[in-house]
Amino acid sequence: MSEPNLQSNEINAGETDESPVIKNISMTYVCGECHSDTVLSPKDLVRCRECGFRILYKKKTSRIVVYDGR
Ligand SMILES: [Zn+2]
Repeated sequence: MSEPNLQSNEINAGETDESPVIKNISMTYVCGECHSDTVLSPKDLVRCRECGFRILYKKKTSRIVVYDGR
């Protein structure tokens, strides 16, 4: 009788305190499609977590910033 004794131990192994300046600089964006707030850190892809839309607007600045190469 084999008992699956798998406990999900989530150990943050890759967590080091050697990161220079970049800490939790997360910014709030608003999705251009579903208008839901999405908090992204600089490491994350600029992408809505609700619908996957890739054009997000910065919420902090009053100015609308669109990443659109013209
Ligand atoms: Zn969205």
